[in-house]
Amino acid sequence: MIPIVKTIEEVRKYVKAWRREGLSVGLVPTMGFLHEGHRSLIERAAKENDRVVVSDFVNPTQFGPNEDFESYPRDIEKDAALCSDAGAAVIFNPEAEEMYDNALTKVSVDKITKVLCGKTRPIHFDGVCTVVSKLFNIVTPDRAYFGQKDAQQLCVVRKMVKDLNFDIEIVSCPIIREADGLAKSSRNTYLNDEERKAALCLSRSLSIGRELIENGEHSAEAVKAAIRAEIEKEPLAKIDYVEIVSFDTLESVESISKPVLAAIAVYIGKTRLIDNFITE
Ligand code: AMP
Repeated sequence: MIPIVKTIEEVRKYVKAWRREGLSVGLVPTMGFLHEGHRSLIERAAKENDRVVVSDFVNPTQFGPNEDFESYPRDIEKDAALCSDAGAAVIFNPEAEEMYDNALTKVSVDKITKVLCGKTRPIHFDGVCTVVSKLFNIVTPDRAYFGQKDAQQLCVVRKMVKDLNFDIEIVSCPIIREADGLAKSSRNTYLNDEERKAALCLSRSLSIGRELIENGEHSAEAVKAAIRAEIEKEPLAKIDYVEIVSFDTLESVESISKPVLAAIAVYIGKTRLIDNFITE
């Protein structure tokens, strides 16, 4: 089993020893309760780097006051087994006090954090950018791996890396889905049987949108309307947003000239799920 490291000092010891040997280091930031989506990132990182650190930290600062920080699922022993199997060297699982020792500093990316998920989650991306910056400074990886599942996060992290001159390559990994199309997520564990079935409206609606675009539909409004209509057929679903935006600026587009990001957030009962696709 791989070491479960609790302190910043100890992770740094590992990284320093690897660096002395001239080894490359990959980082996979996660909030734990790992599934096949996370595994795909870890395996890719293990392929492309000599050593991989997986951070496993339910970061309190990226949750709003009425969100699911307390109830977010946790299982560090199971996570460590998956990390070990997927080829990671170390799992970094700090307590909040270790990460935020009376901290007064925040990292904040403007503009692209105010749209999409940022509208309903106003402090979320400050929390993400701050913790990701800290992890970058603690682990000093050559590469860091992020899933396209959280497409806005990926876009925000890329911008932060560019703006703050982090010397780290950001690697984007495709969305891993259940056999029936539902994007894998730690939050899927909140769904009861009925909600689990209802949750399929996310991937189904996006397939319809994608097909429209592939068949030559250029109107973003028409594609969004088709996606909305499919979700609205599902009585347990409540739309947070359906947007089609340019992938780098996250600004809404009217006419679809590729590539665009079609992103949705939908409440299934009390559980907020996200999904997306990017046109080629
Ligand atoms: P989380 O633990 O939800 O914060 O996710 C950690 C990383 O895994 C993020 O970069 C996510 O985008 C990525 N991830 C989560 N679910 C999936 C998935 N179904 N497919 C690919 N990547 C994922």
